[in-house]
Amino acid sequence: MRLSQSLIPTLKEIPAEAQIASHRLMLRAGLVRQMASGIYAWLPAGLRALDKIAKIVRAEQDACGAQEMLMPTIQSADLWRESGRYDAYGKEMLRITDRHERELLYGPTNEEMITAIMRDATKSYRDLPQSLYHIQWKFRDEVRPRFGVLRGREFLMKDAYSFDLDYAGAFLSYKKMMLAYMRTFQRMGITAIPMRADTGQIGGDLSHEFHILAPTGESGVFYDAAFEAGDALGVDYAETSLDTFYAASTTTYAATDEKHDLEAWVKVPEERKREGRGIEVGQIFYFGKKYSEAMGFSVIGPDGTKIYPEMGSYGIGVSRLVGAIIEAKHDEAGIIWPDPIAPFRVAILNLRQGDRATDPICEALHAKLNVDCLYDDREERAGAKFAEADLMGHPWQIIVGPRGAASGQVELKRRATNERTELSVEDALARVLS
Ligand code: ATP
Ligand code: MG
Repeated sequence: MRLSQSLIPTLKEIPAEAQIASHRLMLRAGLVRQMASGIYAWLPAGLRALDKIAKIVRAEQDACGAQEMLMPTIQSADLWRESGRYDAYGKEMLRITDRHERELLYGPTNEEMITAIMRDATKSYRDLPQSLYHIQWKFRDEVRPRFGVLRGREFLMKDAYSFDLDYAGAFLSYKKMMLAYMRTFQRMGITAIPMRADTGQIGGDLSHEFHILAPTGESGVFYDAAFEAGDALGVDYAETSLDTFYAASTTTYAATDEKHDLEAWVKVPEERKREGRGIEVGQIFYFGKKYSEAMGFSVIGPDGTKIYPEMGSYGIGVSRLVGAIIEAKHDEAGIIWPDPIAPFRVAILNLRQGDRATDPICEALHAKLNVDCLYDDREERAGAKFAEADLMGHPWQIIVGPRGAASGQVELKRRATNERTELSVEDALARVLS
């Protein structure tokens, strides 16, 4: 993509309304704009990051056996009366009335809807287990929307729901999701730690939150450094590997301040104790028959008796992740995107637009790298191009200046380390494509 033709409205000034780095950087790098309190438009570069995150989430949900579907954003109030949550949910729920005076709401989550769908679609124990997910916008009328997309009112969530015939099946579904989550976050280039959590609005008795570490996180977190060396990508879904993984993940100490247990904490070896702040990027719940019983969803078992399915629900804050990752990965100059989710993997900086030596090299690189590359072809000072590329945080910059270009040389800069190397055009291409 050519920067001269792209809508990436970067800002030089620090936006006064933004209190934390990721919010400032998302505005300054031209990723999002606020349209109303807690409601954002995703501009082209921001959407590219959001889509790449969603793609990894989707791939790992598919890999753990969940099926993708899409439920609507608008739900009927009657559905929520069945579970008793219509009144319980309070002011966070955006309630809407249509022209026929029918009560609707903008979904904050989908337990009721998926339970109704399953109640209609399954009849026999043979139809279970099932695990389903969608990636859809949610609305929660937060008291204090803040920190940009970290706590928005409208936000993109992946939510999955599992239905099993008994506790053993439901627990297996829970373990699979925990592995899927750890694989998902690792693939994004971030460390997320599963922490025992309260179940809140969703209800139930087993839950973990996944936190990524950042100084501005809303929760205090305490954990064993063993999590920093974890490798979920090496774990498969065979039941024995799953059990070993789950046992290791849940017996190693990790808790938010709400659940912090001093007795267990003192047993963690001193040199492995870590304390910091965390941003919740996902949460998983097992809540048994809470919704299936309340909403009268049963299937006929092998002996003809009714079985109320055991359920779990599993959320990932897809739009929150964009902000959370930036919060964890930036410096004074700007964003430092992990490679897999950068809006553009590579930027080409033409230091003298219109030059006989630099132009053909840049054009050739642009043609080869194509979609995952942003070509800074503007007639701007070199200094301005450097600053904007650092701000936008592309993992690689290929810097093409007149002196080197004359002899076929370019400079390759790695954003994360600021390392710069001079090399031939072919070698630069090979490096960024590897
Ligand atoms: P929080 O405690 O941060 O308010 P929650 O526990 O109410 O979040 P869940 O119901 O667990 O949220 O939703 C699943 C995921 O959706 C969360 O882990 C988070 O990543 C994301 N999420 C929840 N609320 C918001 C929001 N207001 N803005 C952006 N993402 C959100
Ligand atoms: Mg939560």
